[in-house]
Amino acid sequence: MNIHEYQAKAILDKFGVPTPRAEVASTPAEAKEIASRIGGRVVVKAQVHAGGRGKAGGVKLVDSPAMAEEVTASLLGTRLVTKQTGAAGVPIEKVMIAEALDIKDELYISIVVDGDIGAPVVMASTEGGMDIEEVAESTPEKIFRVAGDPLIGLTTYRARDIALALGVPDKSVRATTKLITDLYQVFVENDCSLVEINPLVITEDDQVFALDVKINLEDDALFRHPELAGLRDSNQQDPLEQRADKAGLAYVKLDGGRVGCMVNGAGLAMATMDITKAAGADPANFLDIGGSADQARIEEAFKIIVDDTDVEIILINLFAGIARSDVVAQGIVSAAKETKTAVPMVVAMRGTNAAEGIQILADSGLNITGVPDLAGAAVVLKAKLLELGGSN
Ligand code: ADP
Ligand code: MG
Repeated sequence: MNIHEYQAKAILDKFGVPTPRAEVASTPAEAKEIASRIGGRVVVKAQVHAGGRGKAGGVKLVDSPAMAEEVTASLLGTRLVTKQTGAAGVPIEKVMIAEALDIKDELYISIVVDGDIGAPVVMASTEGGMDIEEVAESTPEKIFRVAGDPLIGLTTYRARDIALALGVPDKSVRATTKLITDLYQVFVENDCSLVEINPLVITEDDQVFALDVKINLEDDALFRHPELAGLRDSNQQDPLEQRADKAGLAYVKLDGGRVGCMVNGAGLAMATMDITKAAGADPANFLDIGGSADQARIEEAFKIIVDDTDVEIILINLFAGIARSDVVAQGIVSAAKETKTAVPMVVAMRGTNAAEGIQILADSGLNITGVPDLAGAAVVLKAKLLELGGSN
């Protein structure tokens, strides 16, 4: 689960990680009041679930409370489109007003779980403030990695190694080391999947601050943190993603494709991606109905796919183990009839009651082709795409 910067900052505060003074505002008047309380220059920061806000006009430096009010008014109620959002952007419903710091150096630090070594790993770089993906690609030697120990944690001397690798001034080493060990505590104690500080800044007077923070919480561990579950902001999600979440379905929207894909299982999703590509098209989305979907969930899954306006054709790839093909087929047919969709469908059905399922599809009188194998589905998909014409 993704949370907002102001919420992540509150967690850092609790763990003693230094951040600039800041408060969240939902109206221009509140922004003005906070700016006068902080005094001096402040930064107005759009609170959205996406990075790259600075370059997209979502982080603005202002000189006075009146300007903070004005900039807040221009941001609230609009949608911010950044490199990390789709073309539709994400709504700005709150801004954070933060004290502006005099920055000498922008550094980078993050913590993620490294699946290969089975431990949290701290990544640090002197190249902060910019796209870390770009640094990783063009100058990977500029990223310094230190793994924590799942039992012992991150020892102080290893945290100090990171501070030294970041090249912080001598008199900031101690504070940076403490910040890194505290950040590691934030990661472990809140069951995070990501804690990212970009930039970590050294100010002109050699103080160290986490200037921007992004925290992702591990969904599967949220039950251990009821106090964090309330931080969810569904408005930042795509409406179809929200519906999928509610129905307990895993939905991923992909930009640029025109094939809606419904599968049961993540491995099948990969295979379905391959078939779609082999047929010369790109997926518009993926919807995973999971192993034991009942008819109601299948109907909702189908409706979500149909409501994605990019979808011109639907590819359903089912391997029925616990799920039964005939139940899925009935779900598809009744949802297709209810939505009166004209979108053609190709359905690969294997496993439990596959023959019965394919028969139900054939008897439906709808534009659905059921086939007993994946290779056959690829051939039918390609033919149907040709009929539709156009390209991705
Ligand atoms: P994003 O990563 O979404 O673009 P950031 O919070 O990292 O947003 O802000 C972008 C840039 O704006 C930072 O790299 C920094 O240069 C500047 N900035 C952000 N907050 C402050 C602040 N409190 N004081 C001074 N500069 C800031
Ligand atoms: Mg940033």
